[in-house]
Amino acid sequence: MSAIIPHSRPTLGEEEAQAAREVVKSGYIAQGEKTRGFEEELVRFVGVKGAVCVNSGTSALHLGLIAMGISSGDEVILPAFVCSAPLNAIYHAGAEPRLCDIEKESFNISIESIVDNRSENTKAVIVPHMFGSPADLEKIEELGVPIIEDCAQSIGAMYGDRKTGSIGAFSIISFYANKMIACGEGGAVLSDDESLLAEVRDLRDYDEKSDYKVRYNYTMTDIQAAVGLEQMKRLPTMIEKRKEIAACYDDAFVSCGAVMPKGEFDHVYYRYVMNIDKDVDGIISRAGEKGVTCARPVFRPLHRYFEMRSGFRNADEAYSRSLSIPIYPSLTDDEQERVIEAVLGALEG
Ligand SMILES: *Cc1c(COP(=O)(O)O)cnc(C)c1O
Repeated sequence: MSAIIPHSRPTLGEEEAQAAREVVKSGYIAQGEKTRGFEEELVRFVGVKGAVCVNSGTSALHLGLIAMGISSGDEVILPAFVCSAPLNAIYHAGAEPRLCDIEKESFNISIESIVDNRSENTKAVIVPHMFGSPADLEKIEELGVPIIEDCAQSIGAMYGDRKTGSIGAFSIISFYANKMIACGEGGAVLSDDESLLAEVRDLRDYDEKSDYKVRYNYTMTDIQAAVGLEQMKRLPTMIEKRKEIAACYDDAFVSCGAVMPKGEFDHVYYRYVMNIDKDVDGIISRAGEKGVTCARPVFRPLHRYFEMRSGFRNADEAYSRSLSIPIYPSLTDDEQERVIEAVLGALEG
């Protein structure tokens, strides 16, 4: 029996190990030079005025929302087909979430549903670029609701001639272990708005402040930032590799009509999500028996936690039909073959 192929695996090498080791040996392991260096690198790569690193993507959303002045009585729109992190951040800020359906093809937030859910209290819409496929930001911009880009799954993806993360009022990235860039944990707020960034920077930590207000302890460590800097060097080749694997999966699954939609824009394939008309749990368990770990791409759509039944047709459909299969830069050719064989076998069985 060959080794189990996990659903996710970070791409970490000697360079990351060495970088972390050097920080540890230096004796300065908290937020410092490396974190500032990582912020500069993110600014250069995404093409924004500034970046502030924090300890998670959730914290990045939380501080960004506060810095936008969002608080109790305000409403923030988000899609139902996403993990609960953006929802938590809205509640952390004391605001009210408004859940939306998604577009049928792209898994991204539905424009029509934003229109249905907006009110005079709407202060922003959180737009995750789902699975690495950019949402149609121009259409959302036309609605006049400030956009928060959630690039937890899309760093490196282009929206036209701009990078995702350079368009919204602010954007966030996550550096959790299974994301495009892995630091263990971590996140960043990116923006062109210097005063918003200054506020996020101020709220991030509490020490040596001349006034008192409620602040947080959301700092990144230099160990994480040093690993992140090495990951940034790898990012272009990691994205190329993801695209190569996706093309290979497209070829393998085209005959069963289950390929992932390419989307209108540049897709970086954080996930490869197949569209199948069979029982997803059965397929996950049959592929698992062959040592290939597949998963639902969203554990549970958010509206289902609240037993909201109507208005989420596409999110419900996506939940019942989507299967996420292993795709990451360190997946070997051999492993790719095993994934294809196990998934095709499970689809037939
Ligand atoms: C992972 C993720 C987050 C949260 O990031 P954490 O670093 O885990 O807090 C937010 N939004 C999306 C779309 C994500 O995939």
